[in-house]
Amino acid sequence: MSCLFCRIVAGEVPATVVHETKTTLAFRDIQPKAPVHVLLIPREHVPNAVDLDGDQLGGLFAAAREVAAGEGVAESGYRLLFNTGPDSGQEVFHAHLHLLGGERLSRL
Ligand code: 5GP
Ligand code: ZN
Repeated sequence: MSCLFCRIVAGEVPATVVHETKTTLAFRDIQPKAPVHVLLIPREHVPNAVDLDGDQLGGLFAAAREVAAGEGVAESGYRLLFNTGPDSGQEVFHAHLHLLGGERLSRL
């Protein structure tokens, strides 16, 4: 299995998991760009966010709401983003939702 995030799902690559459901996994980014930087992924391999179906997207956003509460940023605010394709800088082609917070983030 060559996909890094599939290997994390399989437990072959260690990760600091902060939340999990039957269909999603959330773990800390190895190179955090903010004090809180969590990646939320579907357990199933889907290369890009736009290929996710409605249930998968709903599951990721429901998980994001719980992660934000667990990380203490639900009130202070956070950013959710998907990089999609080369111009976005996407490096891992297993769809993942970034959750960033814990400080005032730079404007996009
Ligand atoms: P992308 O640029 O594809 O949207 O985001 C990929 C993210 O995965 C990056 O923020 C990067 O720091 C993170 N990342 C890359 N390799 C690993 C890893 O082995 N473990 C974890 N936890 N995060 C990783
Ligand atoms: Zn994968």
